[in-house]
Amino acid sequence: MADEKRDYYEVLGVSKDATPEEIKKAYRKMAVKYHPDRNPGDKAAEEKFKEAAEAYDVLSDTEKRAKYDKFGHSMGPQGFGGGGAGYGGFGGGMSMEDIFAHFGDIFGGHFGGGDFGGFGGAAGARPRRHVNKGTDLRITVKVTLKDIKEGVDKKLKIPMQVACPHCKGTGAKDGTAFHTCPRCNGSGYVTTVQQTFMGAMQSQAVCPECNGEGKIITEKCQYCNGTGVEKKEEIVSFHIPAGVEDGMVLTLRGKGNAPRGGGVNGDLLIKIQEEKDPELIRDESDLIYNLMLDFPTAALGGQAEVPTIDGRARLKIAPGTQPGKVLRLRGKGLPKMNSSHVGDLLVNVMVYVPENLTDAEKAAIESLKDAPNIVPTKSTSDRIFSKLRHIFTREKEGE
Ligand SMILES: [Zn+2]
Ligand SMILES: [Zn+2]
Repeated sequence: MADEKRDYYEVLGVSKDATPEEIKKAYRKMAVKYHPDRNPGDKAAEEKFKEAAEAYDVLSDTEKRAKYDKFGHSMGPQGFGGGGAGYGGFGGGMSMEDIFAHFGDIFGGHFGGGDFGGFGGAAGARPRRHVNKGTDLRITVKVTLKDIKEGVDKKLKIPMQVACPHCKGTGAKDGTAFHTCPRCNGSGYVTTVQQTFMGAMQSQAVCPECNGEGKIITEKCQYCNGTGVEKKEEIVSFHIPAGVEDGMVLTLRGKGNAPRGGGVNGDLLIKIQEEKDPELIRDESDLIYNLMLDFPTAALGGQAEVPTIDGRARLKIAPGTQPGKVLRLRGKGLPKMNSSHVGDLLVNVMVYVPENLTDAEKAAIESLKDAPNIVPTKSTSDRIFSKLRHIFTREKEGE
């Protein structure tokens, strides 16, 4: 395991004398950028996410940071765990669960504005007040190549469960006809101590008095019959960033169903479905167009019209253009997510060989047969083949 580890300061993009606040800020930025919710299925982003968490784990801890400054990644006198194992309690690497459990709270309140990100499902290591969470909603949104190129704002009407406005989701009449559960003091949890042969064991359980809700309703809301929710069609607006791919799932925190009895909304999961373009083929950030040229234009040169995302474009065709030639329109492809890269439009040239000919057409072609420049010589063929990368060559056969 001879992993080349990057310098932790470099990973977070801070200077050696960065303040704890600067380190925290830098880490937050990285974690947001490479968050798995933003980069579903992207292994490289996940690695960056983990790398940043490991760096933050060390640099945010005064003692670990001091040791790291002195000894770097290699083992110090005390040794940071043998043979290149990581600092702290994470051994050779942090799992995503470790990261969420340890650093989830750094983001407290940072998200939730309906933007992407957030650390839902990361309960954290410490016991917390029980919070009701609504269920997630899943929708599929179709996007065109133009949407993918530019990013798109969507506004959709989605049927969902929302908090009852009359009781503000509490389920209690006027939102006030309840009191704090006396048994758990509103925490929703009760601590029990049991004597076992190993000594006293403390455990936490959901409060049986209030079912973990922390409150007891004295009079039900008449509009929602005490459930705290109602069914409604909500208008949800969101932005789909440029460069998305088919099958990606974007998460809108807190835009899902409201839970019964009040609490935190579930999430809205938006699955991207790419609409196939009738002419352009997507190849990651590049686009491909198969252009069928007529023989006279290929031979004599001229113009051809090709589709692009922004409409038709005129292409100059050089005299003697061969089938198999690829013309590249730089920057006419798609942007890549979280990157400044923009793909190209590749025009794959084919030349149409006429199939059904009249006698006159046959005669015209017949007359060309023995013309000196119509039949290729060996050297002409070799020169043309050598320019076409995807044509079979002896090197490829030998592979
Ligand atoms: Zn109500
Ligand atoms: Zn209770």
